[in-house]
Amino acid sequence: MGIVVVGTVAFDTVETPFGRGENVLGGSATYFSTSASFFTDVSLVAVVGEDFPDEHVQFLKSREINTDGLQRIPGKTFHWSGKYGYDLNEAQTLDTQLNVLMEFKPELPETYRDADYLFLANIDPDLQMEVLEQVRKPKVVACDTMNFWISSKPEALKKVLQKVDIVVINEGEARQFTGEANLVKAARQIIALGCKRLVVKRGEYGVLMFTPDSVFAAPAYPLEEVFDPTGAGDTFAGGFMGYLASTGNMTEEGIRQAIVFGSVMASFNVEDFSLDRMKRLDYREIEARYRSFKSLTHFQDLPEGL
Ligand code: AMP
Repeated sequence: MGIVVVGTVAFDTVETPFGRGENVLGGSATYFSTSASFFTDVSLVAVVGEDFPDEHVQFLKSREINTDGLQRIPGKTFHWSGKYGYDLNEAQTLDTQLNVLMEFKPELPETYRDADYLFLANIDPDLQMEVLEQVRKPKVVACDTMNFWISSKPEALKKVLQKVDIVVINEGEARQFTGEANLVKAARQIIALGCKRLVVKRGEYGVLMFTPDSVFAAPAYPLEEVFDPTGAGDTFAGGFMGYLASTGNMTEEGIRQAIVFGSVMASFNVEDFSLDRMKRLDYREIEARYRSFKSLTHFQDLPEGL
């Protein structure tokens, strides 16, 4: 089977210099699974409250996302409010209401437990660990996190980071987690915890992927219209993992292609609010933008003898 993802399914209230969305569909697992669904089968583990409209669940199903692991329990859905200034790289969190997340006990349906690919999207690290313990023999486990959990649950988070193959994290969060200002040194510290790869998301500056002995850089796509960066990180991770799961190619070349597919997906997502751009995206557009990325970064080697 394809990818299992645990994360948040949320209501977001977002303000950017270009507009405002109130109680719109959001959440780390929502963005991740929608993005990954363009490449492979995705099964979601998350919780919502009684106030969550069926229309959003229908949207996930229309993307053929398996929602058997989406629990609906009494209470209100997780709600995040954030704001961006003209520098769209970093969200300022105004409010986080955990609501039903505080009662959530992730319970993987039997069919999810043989997943080959597992993504622990941004959520309470204790819940990430509970999900990790329920899968049998995944080939690849990756995880993400956020400043909220780095400051509230650093020890639980460290245990998760020690057990995964790939860590995907924001530049600012890599610095916050390690207390190291230099990104290369911060990356080394995170890799030393035991993961094989670290992917550092740098907003409009793109992505750096570190292994113990290599660094790969991919730019962000230069866009004229950027409306809402919310979910860019999760959408990146969805494209990255989705492509990996669809090919099973874990060579360095295959993983680098996956990084570019992740960047392609994130570049689409920021073009509109919430998941609106994802809702009208088509696979041919994805391939065309992948090719534009290729020409954007291609340059010739030096001639022999120079
Ligand atoms: P990003 O890809 O980093 O922009 O993630 C945006 C999504 O993360 C939003 O849709 C929020 O609902 C969700 N989110 C915000 N804060 C948290 C948190 N503390 N834990 C889990 N998800 C969160």
